[in-house]
Amino acid sequence: MTIRVMKNLRMCCDCHEAFKLISGIVEREFVVRDLNRFHHFKSGSCSCNDYW
Ligand SMILES: [Zn+2]
Repeated sequence: MTIRVMKNLRMCCDCHEAFKLISGIVEREFVVRDLNRFHHFKSGSCSCNDYW
């Protein structure tokens, strides 16, 4: 199951770290739509390679 989150604002650093941690803990994928790009969190890392 993939959880999708939409945000109108740019993702903050703390949010980004939190999602990475959560994705590692719950073993689910998170797709977060940011203002500029998608973030695909999986197993404690993000597809954007922390560039955002
Ligand atoms: Zn990211």
